[in-house]
Amino acid sequence: MKDLHQLGAAGLSRALAARQVSSVEATTHLLARVAAHEHLGAFLCVDAEGALRQAAQADARRAAGETGALLGVPLAHKDIFVTEALPTTAGSKMLAGYRSPFDATVVTRLAAAGTVTLGKLNCDEFAMGSSNENSAFGPVKNPWDATRVPGGSSGGSATAVAARLVPVATGTDTGGSIRQPASFTGITGIKPTYGVCSRYGMIAFASSLDQAGPFGRSAEDCALMLSAMSGFDERDATSAQRPPQDYAAALTTVRAGASAAQPLKGLRIGLPTEFFPAALAADVDGAVRAALAELQKLGATLVDVSLPRTELSIPVYYIIAPAEASSNLSRFDGVRFGHRADKYTDLLDMYKKSRAEAFGAEVKRRIMIGTYVLSHGYYDAYYLQAQKLRRMIADDFQHCFTQCDVIAGPVAPTVAWKLGDKSDDPVANYLADIFTLPASLAGLPGMSLPAGTGEGGMPVGLQLIGNYFQEGTLLHAAHAFQQATDWHAQAPSI
Ligand code: GLN
Repeated sequence: MKDLHQLGAAGLSRALAARQVSSVEATTHLLARVAAHEHLGAFLCVDAEGALRQAAQADARRAAGETGALLGVPLAHKDIFVTEALPTTAGSKMLAGYRSPFDATVVTRLAAAGTVTLGKLNCDEFAMGSSNENSAFGPVKNPWDATRVPGGSSGGSATAVAARLVPVATGTDTGGSIRQPASFTGITGIKPTYGVCSRYGMIAFASSLDQAGPFGRSAEDCALMLSAMSGFDERDATSAQRPPQDYAAALTTVRAGASAAQPLKGLRIGLPTEFFPAALAADVDGAVRAALAELQKLGATLVDVSLPRTELSIPVYYIIAPAEASSNLSRFDGVRFGHRADKYTDLLDMYKKSRAEAFGAEVKRRIMIGTYVLSHGYYDAYYLQAQKLRRMIADDFQHCFTQCDVIAGPVAPTVAWKLGDKSDDPVANYLADIFTLPASLAGLPGMSLPAGTGEGGMPVGLQLIGNYFQEGTLLHAAHAFQQATDWHAQAPSI
């Protein structure tokens, strides 16, 4: 079978089930493709030997009669998930050479489903960033235009899927790190409700916001992945106690009153005024509105809603996330975890030198901001105030959900920018997170699906946000859109 890389997870799964291809063949094909596209910088490590061994096991399981949807499907993990068999760096020099004694729950679950791990994927250092330029191991390039960023922080995951190096990949989203890179690279990604995927073994950035999720070519691919990745985990105290979900079944659920031509009949899509500001790039605005018109054709109704504190989500997030990061990253002290300086005088000097040497500029900036906003005298003015606003932002969403079933808008204010364009300007990066931060602060599920193209032929994503645990509704709407359009099927010519 030629062009195996053109198959997404669902397509490959069907080919595997029909014995048109074996997992060893698919794995071999993709490993060659990964090697041929090293210049994209997506992979931090590749495990050809381990992958071929897992593929052979998956083929044997299939031969013995097993039929799991992901059995034998290759993937790769964002290098923020700890793995026993492979190094884990979180994109930081701090963890160069680190080997975890255990696997993250998401990794364990996907392995149990029979997936084949090709390697680990580049990301911004400790998942802090929006362009993947904060990785200590070099930037990742956007396969649509190698002079542009893939988005971040899960830039390696997005590029690997968009460049057809892997059918699916894992990522994490604290303030947009699945949705924004999915949008920038023309693929589909979903950040579930906080608590749906276990955070056990996910290197912590901002614990009250961090959430794992999948990248794929389509909503169908994401549904297969999310079904395998999600579920209660007693090792994560914030894990949601719910029965296992079959998200693939949600794709084809028929809504009351719906028809084949109008599968979204009755679905009310809320458009927050604040998600369509004058400053929104015209190409993004155009692509998003065209996608909304398509959703209308599929039976959905559009209603105007308001998220009045959208702009405030930027200062709120950039207080809360650094505050939590400053605490989480204290464990990297050269004793318990992380790089230790060669030369030092006493213990304090060892801490200082180790951390100064191994953390990058953005991580240091956040540790300083976080320590400041938590410090005595500033806590009330910054951290506490931000927490109060976070609650109000979540309440604003609940008010919207009395008027609509899902919320839609752009993922980012522009298409992917050029490498280097914003790398010296942290605030410019932060401002570009405006449309993804609100759902993160509220803990709501959000997804990005390819909606069209903009400037330079670059992909534009449509964001859908649902109420708590409404991942099925988002995936269903995205699937209906993808059955009627082919934006998700377009691949960069590399
Ligand atoms: N861009 C945001 C940040 O820099 C979000 C990152 C993320 O979701 N991990 O914090």
